[in-house]
Amino acid sequence: TKVTEHIQRSEGQTLFSIEIIPPLKGQNINQLLDSIEPLMEFKPPFVDVTYHREEVIDKPQPNGLVQRIPVRKRPGTVGICARLMERFKVDAVPHVICGGFTKEETEDMLFDLHYLGIDNALILRGDPEKSAGVFRAKTGGHAYASELISQVRDMNRGVLLHEETEATPTNFCIGVAGYPEKHFEAANYDTDLSYLKKKVEAGAEYIVTQMFFDNQKYFQFVERCRAAGITVPIIPGLKPLATRNQLTVLPRIFHLDMPQELVQEAEKCATNDQVRQVGIEWGIKQCKELIEFGVPVLHFYTMGKSDNVMQIARGVF
Ligand code: FAD
Repeated sequence: TKVTEHIQRSEGQTLFSIEIIPPLKGQNINQLLDSIEPLMEFKPPFVDVTYHREEVIDKPQPNGLVQRIPVRKRPGTVGICARLMERFKVDAVPHVICGGFTKEETEDMLFDLHYLGIDNALILRGDPEKSAGVFRAKTGGHAYASELISQVRDMNRGVLLHEETEATPTNFCIGVAGYPEKHFEAANYDTDLSYLKKKVEAGAEYIVTQMFFDNQKYFQFVERCRAAGITVPIIPGLKPLATRNQLTVLPRIFHLDMPQELVQEAEKCATNDQVRQVGIEWGIKQCKELIEFGVPVLHFYTMGKSDNVMQIARGVF
């Protein structure tokens, strides 16, 4: 079932969903699946699974030279989607990224997803390589999410990259990312919004936002999207503050503002357990207001921990 169909069927009731990150290469998958099992109590109709690009590592050789090797540190997105569907009877939403893939490799992966019966994909450009700092497309790959959306749309029409004859169409419902506090590379808010609109015109059927801690940022974003003629559902992405360190780390990584009130509350805490509790209370307050506003889904970035998301969900559902 498509994410948009879940939203339609909910008839205005706010749904609960989560995003998970594949484990580091070589770690046990059951640990990840066990960690989200308690959250199934809140009946997420779909679960997102992130995708991570290759990173180049420098491996010293016996001859003294250094070999540069591309490695995917968190492989397994497609397999995890299959396990999720089987174990929890939820729809899986794999993230599909431009970075690190040629168009042909992407086409093959989309077939894997299609053969598994997956009808959803969150289409992203992907983060820049850590070592490079700026995004570079792989030769023969896409540079922007909007280009990848066009490829998926073509497959949904039975058009493949190098085949003359029509293929069996895929049936992907396409989601994309949106940034209430602007994407960090965009020159200004309005250009960022115009590119978001381009993604919707290319075929995106819903938007999931970057995390934010100040609901006003989300409300303004929705207002600006609607004024720009973007009418698709806008799902808020949420992450509970969990450590004092995150007060500075999250703004740095995700380019967001921490509200002063939350900072002050967290700074009063003597331990990270107390900060976690502040994060839970803030999350509950945020979610109640978002439900009141009429958001279609509350989408949580679990980042490998689910106890605080659990407590927030208990507080609001
Ligand atoms: P795009 O929409 O392609 O935009 C990238 C930048 O280019 C923006 O500044 C935009 O304004 C600009 N732009 C867009 N189109 C054009 C154009 N045609 N011409 C010029 N400029 C343009 N990263 C991962 O690696 N894996 C994941 O699984 C993942 N999941 C995510 C999930 C969510 C909900 C969110 C919000 C982000 C996720 N990310 C993930 C991070 C994301 O890949 C990065 O934020 C990335 O830097 C931008 O991706 P995008 O799809 O928004 O890019």
